[in-house]
Amino acid sequence: MSLGKLIKFRKTLSFRLTIWYAGIFTLSSFIAFSVFYSRIYSITMARADEELIEETEEISAALNEGGIGAVRAEIAEEAEEEDENNIFFRVISRDGEILATTNMSSWGNIDISHKTIKAQDSQANYVLQTLAIPGREYKARVISAPIGPKEIFQMGMILEEEEEYLKIFRNLFYLLFLVMAFVSGLFGWFIARQGLRDVEEVTRTAIEISSGSHDKRVRVKDRYEEIERLGNAFNMMLDRIQSILLAMREINDNIAHDLRSPLARIRGIAEMTLVREKSADDFKKMAASTVEECDTLIDMVNTMLEITEAEAGVAQQNIEEFDLAKLISDACDLFRPIADDKHIDINLSIPDKLHFRTDRKKLQRMVTNLLENAIKYTPDGGTVAISVLVHEGQVDIVIQDNGIGISQDDQPHIFERFYQSDKSRSTTGIGLGLSLAKAFAVALGGKIIVKSTLGDGSTFRINLPASSFS
Ligand code: ADP
Repeated sequence: MSLGKLIKFRKTLSFRLTIWYAGIFTLSSFIAFSVFYSRIYSITMARADEELIEETEEISAALNEGGIGAVRAEIAEEAEEEDENNIFFRVISRDGEILATTNMSSWGNIDISHKTIKAQDSQANYVLQTLAIPGREYKARVISAPIGPKEIFQMGMILEEEEEYLKIFRNLFYLLFLVMAFVSGLFGWFIARQGLRDVEEVTRTAIEISSGSHDKRVRVKDRYEEIERLGNAFNMMLDRIQSILLAMREINDNIAHDLRSPLARIRGIAEMTLVREKSADDFKKMAASTVEECDTLIDMVNTMLEITEAEAGVAQQNIEEFDLAKLISDACDLFRPIADDKHIDINLSIPDKLHFRTDRKKLQRMVTNLLENAIKYTPDGGTVAISVLVHEGQVDIVIQDNGIGISQDDQPHIFERFYQSDKSRSTTGIGLGLSLAKAFAVALGGKIIVKSTLGDGSTFRINLPASSFS
């Protein structure tokens, strides 16, 4: 692995998790081993100490019964039985005179420690020490005990057996420790890889999407809960981005198809006037037509922007409280002159007051668009009825006409941008009114439902959720 790759690898989460896992596991094993070892050590030492104490008690009894002579005999007997390189006995007076001893040539200089003197002063029973003997491989355990008014008994034992025994344990621990560090490292790596495998798939999907596969999604089934949530959030974000991309593409198409014609018309008018007509009146007519076409264009562009903003969910919501009954009757008043011209009756069936809480301007645009259509697509002498139904905490604003109706084939398309069932039927529209109404309804958490029969009339129902009531 090159140095660059190694540095990169050290920065990976898998590596960090492995190190943490192996580190914590190894440290805990080390603590457990240390506790276990210290327990074995104390048990082993306690056993050696017991032997020393027992021997001390025997020598003390011999001194009490038969004086120093008996002690000498006892020590000599012990020395015969044991190897004097591994064990020693001696009795020293308080001022350093040796009263009895075994051969101590291999033991070096073993003093009576201050602790022993203090112990004798305080009438304590014994002092135990572990001493390193110069030139010897193993340490020695030495007991020093006052056994008479002047006499101090000392006995030392080389701890060969005990140290060998503890060494076996230590070596076993070292070995186990190494194996555990290695195994926990492997295990940690495996767990980290398992956990991060799914995250890597999210990354792979993101890379694939950025290189053009916009339809790709992260697989979320049979995943760990956290990864499932990450995948869902990621997929939701992708859906959203895709819908915005689609909306942008649609706008591009719309610009290509629908804005081109009014522009071409404006150009055509100007060209015709320049080429053929020269009078001031003709120029005035051309200017008037150009203004008219420009107004339509501005209207189109503004409405398209509003639809796109509402669909993309970036339009600001100005939630306010208002009286829905008044909003509807104001809209009717606005259209009454046009309806009167066509001898169309507008029947209102709404409560006196209906407190409502939503984006008032958006709702107003929806109602006026639908009302305008109802009047526009109803022949002279027809009827338009508006009612408000409150049910199960929802509200329906119903706009019904007995006009020309919409064919079954056209109904699925009327909410599409620039869709007009039959251009000859609509003289004034641009085919954006229903798209805008639908985009606003969805933005307010509702929907618009249409029922229509060609020749019999249409019913448009704006359905808004319970949260809109104040
Ligand atoms: P337009 O500007 O053409 O009215 P809309 O988006 O408002 O555009 O409506 C789309 C099409 O749906 C219209 O062209 C018309 O054919 C049809 N339509 C809408 N409302 C009605 C209605 N109340 N009765 C019959 N047809 C309707």
